[in-house]
Amino acid sequence: MKNIKDYNLEELKQEFIAMGEKPFRAEQVFKWIFEANVTSFDEMTNLSLELREKLKQNYTLCIYKILKKQVASDGTKKYLFDVLDGNAIETVLMEYHHGYSICVSSQIGCKMGCKFCASTGIQFARNLSSGEIVEQILAVEREENIKISNVVFMGIGEPLDNYDNVVNAIRIINNQKGINIGARHISISTSGIVPKIYKLAEENIQCTLSISLHATTNEKRSSMMPVNDAYNLEELLKACKDYIEKTNRRISFEYALAKDNNDNLEDAQRLVKLLKGMLCHVNLIPINKIENGAYVKSSNENIIKFRDYLNEHGIVATIRRELGSDIDAACGQLRRKNLQETKISKNKV
Ligand code: SAH
Repeated sequence: MKNIKDYNLEELKQEFIAMGEKPFRAEQVFKWIFEANVTSFDEMTNLSLELREKLKQNYTLCIYKILKKQVASDGTKKYLFDVLDGNAIETVLMEYHHGYSICVSSQIGCKMGCKFCASTGIQFARNLSSGEIVEQILAVEREENIKISNVVFMGIGEPLDNYDNVVNAIRIINNQKGINIGARHISISTSGIVPKIYKLAEENIQCTLSISLHATTNEKRSSMMPVNDAYNLEELLKACKDYIEKTNRRISFEYALAKDNNDNLEDAQRLVKLLKGMLCHVNLIPINKIENGAYVKSSNENIIKFRDYLNEHGIVATIRRELGSDIDAACGQLRRKNLQETKISKNKV
C-alpha cells in the first residue's frame, strides 16, 4: 500500500484528483497529517465516512513505533524506530536554547564507507522514502508533545545518495500548511557527492549545506573517506563555490579532529588555504569513538589551538558540542539495526 506521507501537497492534490476527489480535500488531509499529526484516518473528522474508508483502503499512515528510547546525561534523546520491514533506524533529539533540533536518518545503513563512522559498518539495506523521513519528526513530536524547530540530515545514511526522497521530504517539512519548518532551519550534510551538490544548488531551497571535509589533502581524505576517490577535494570545493554563488548561502564544513591524523598545524594551514575567501564556516567535531574505530579524539588543547588558528586566519570556526555520546547518539555513532538484534539486546538488559 502507498504511504500517504510520501506526497508533498501538490502531489497529494494530483492523487485526489485522480481518485475523483476535490483538491481542497487533499489540503485538509495534508493538514491532518502534518499539522495535527493524527495517527488514524478516523480522526480526520471533516471528511466524509466514505472518503475516510477510501483512504484507508488505498493508503497507510506509516506510524513508527518506538522500540527503544534512551536519554543521555545532557538530555539528548535517542529513539530506535521500527521501520516496519524488519529493520530499525535511529533518530536523535537535541534541546538547545533556541528550541528542539532533530537529527534524522535518510537511509537504512550507508554505502559511503567512511572509516570513522558507525552508520556504515553494517550493510546498506535501502533508502527511506520521504514519508519515512518525515515520520521520524512526527513520531518524536507525538512522543514528547513538542514542536521541533530544526532538522538536520545527519543521522544514518548519505542524504545526497537518496536525493529525490530527501528533497521531497524537505518540501513536505517546509510547507506552511504542515510541519512548517523554514528551509533555513533545515541542514543537509553530505560526504561530498559532487554532481548532487550542483543539482541541489538549482532546487531553489534555502536549506543549509554541510560538507564533511575532514582532511586537507587527497591522500588523507581518501584514507578516511572512499568517496574522495570518486570526487576529490578540488572537484568538491569547486562544487561548493558554485553552490555558494548560486544560492548565496554560507556553507558549513565539518572537520572531525582525530589525534595525530588531521589535527596538526600543517592541516590547519592547508585548511585556511583551501577555504580562504569562501562564504563558509568550519564546524570542528572532536571525533567520537566507535566500535573498532581506528581514530582517537584530539586533545582539548589541540582542538582549541586548531580553532584559534582558523579564527586568527580569517576562517570562522566553532567547536561542535558533543551531545549524547554516553548513549552513542553523537555524530557518527548511529547505526542501522535489525529487529533480531534489537530483541537480543532487549533480552540482555
Ligand atoms: N552522510 C552524511 C551525514 C551523516 S553524519 C555525511 O557524511 O555528511 C554527520 C556528520 O558526522 C558528518 O560530518 C560525518 O562525517 C560526521 N561523523 C561521522 N562519524 C563521526 C565520528 N566518529 N566522530 C565525529 N564525527 C563523525
